[in-house]
Amino acid sequence: MAFFDDVKKFGRNITDKGKDVIEITKLNSQINSEKDKIKDFYVKIGEEVYKAYATGQTSNYDEICGQIKQVEDTINELTAKVLELKNAAKCPNCGAEVAKETTFCSKCGTKVNE
Ligand SMILES: [Zn+2]
Repeated sequence: MAFFDDVKKFGRNITDKGKDVIEITKLNSQINSEKDKIKDFYVKIGEEVYKAYATGQTSNYDEICGQIKQVEDTINELTAKVLELKNAAKCPNCGAEVAKETTFCSKCGTKVNE
């Protein structure tokens, strides 16, 4: 009977291991989603620090904020190039993309061209 007991034990171990693998996967996915929450908080902290920097407050993070400002400038330059290629401009009031030949913004009605 020892043989059959061993077979049973072996079979159960495989099932348990399978359950463990599923449980580990579930737990790891929960851990990752909790880590994502922390990242979101880090982003919030960063945004608050940068907002303060943008309004002229100094902090220990001025150097990093300066780097963010440089990246923002680059994004603005690239966005301007894209708008130029699309023959479009940004509405000075709402920021919506408007065709250059348009007189009024289709979103807010602001006069964008003479
Ligand atoms: Zn507008």
